[in-house]
Amino acid sequence: MNNSLISRIFRRQILEMSAYKVANATNFIKLDAMENPYNLPDEIIEQWLEVLKTCELNRYPDPVANELNTIIKQVNKIPDIFKVLLGNGSDEIIQLLLMALPENSNVLAPEPSFVMYKQISLSLGLNYHSVPLKSDFSLDLAAMLIAIEKYQPEVIFLAYPNNPTGNLFNTEAIKKIMLAATGLVIIDEAYAPFAQASFIESLKDYENLLVMRTLSKLGLAGLRLGFIAGHPAIIAELDKIRLPYNINVLTQKTAYFALSHYAIFEQQTQKICQQRTLVLTALKAIKELRVYPSSANFILFKTPDSLANNTFTVLKDRGILIKNLSPQGGLLTDCLRVTIGKPQENQLFLNTLAEFFQQ
Ligand SMILES: *Cc1c(COP(=O)(O)O)cnc(C)c1O
Repeated sequence: MNNSLISRIFRRQILEMSAYKVANATNFIKLDAMENPYNLPDEIIEQWLEVLKTCELNRYPDPVANELNTIIKQVNKIPDIFKVLLGNGSDEIIQLLLMALPENSNVLAPEPSFVMYKQISLSLGLNYHSVPLKSDFSLDLAAMLIAIEKYQPEVIFLAYPNNPTGNLFNTEAIKKIMLAATGLVIIDEAYAPFAQASFIESLKDYENLLVMRTLSKLGLAGLRLGFIAGHPAIIAELDKIRLPYNINVLTQKTAYFALSHYAIFEQQTQKICQQRTLVLTALKAIKELRVYPSSANFILFKTPDSLANNTFTVLKDRGILIKNLSPQGGLLTDCLRVTIGKPQENQLFLNTLAEFFQQ
């Protein structure tokens, strides 16, 4: 391939990027991607298949996904005065939002946080700025306020709870950021099902606030459905660049069906949260590890110096896939992240880890 063709055609920022890589997880106990380990119960799957039979694949889907929109607002308790925009995963919403910004816009987020904020900003040629979290992964409010003053970011992303650290940032600090911000503040509540906290109630108090959620971590990662809620005038602008029919008919019908059985997810979520307590306690019992508190369906922990890669490999050799964050460096050096799985999977993970540190 003629390299000069490639470099002539594509933007410099894209040439400099690397693709977002996802580990091959075939035949692994998959504790790396914050999926809900439980599928829907068999009898519910049967009912779902009946619903799918009614899909008209020859027709375009409802362009505004009206039914789905309504049930999403209901189960997430989003007041009627706000509007909701649906995306093919919340990743698509992040992209859509950033695509709408003027050239040379500034995007701000803490570091470490969800990698797609940076990845998508750079792919669109925007200026991405990050402010390091403190060593306990709490927000450095003073540094955030200085960065806001300096860059006047069009968009600030705050994941609440934060990925990959698992903690909830201080509410008062977030409120000060929303007041200081000259642009939009996106509170990314991807892990809301596992946290007893949300900014949906604050939508009425801050007109620059948008709250984003996804069905992925709740238990529908395969569907790709996310949404963002906020002031109708803001959502209306974003809706102009949303591609028509971005939510396909199978997703619309399936998500509507699944959300009308919301109690199933609540039960699964409860089980996951109970397991989270158990895994957290067991991890803390391994004295070599530093374990961080979590309001999400995963736990971040730190190994002694330079042992993260080794720990990761030992687990992998035993068929257990978690996420090694150590290569990202900075505050994540020596850090590993484990997603809460089924009780047996968690136990196997814990046994393998304990064995490794006892020898
Ligand atoms: C997983 C995750 C998302 C992406 O969710 P999708 O809807 O699957 O695209 C967004 N934000 C955070 C913080 C996440 O961890």
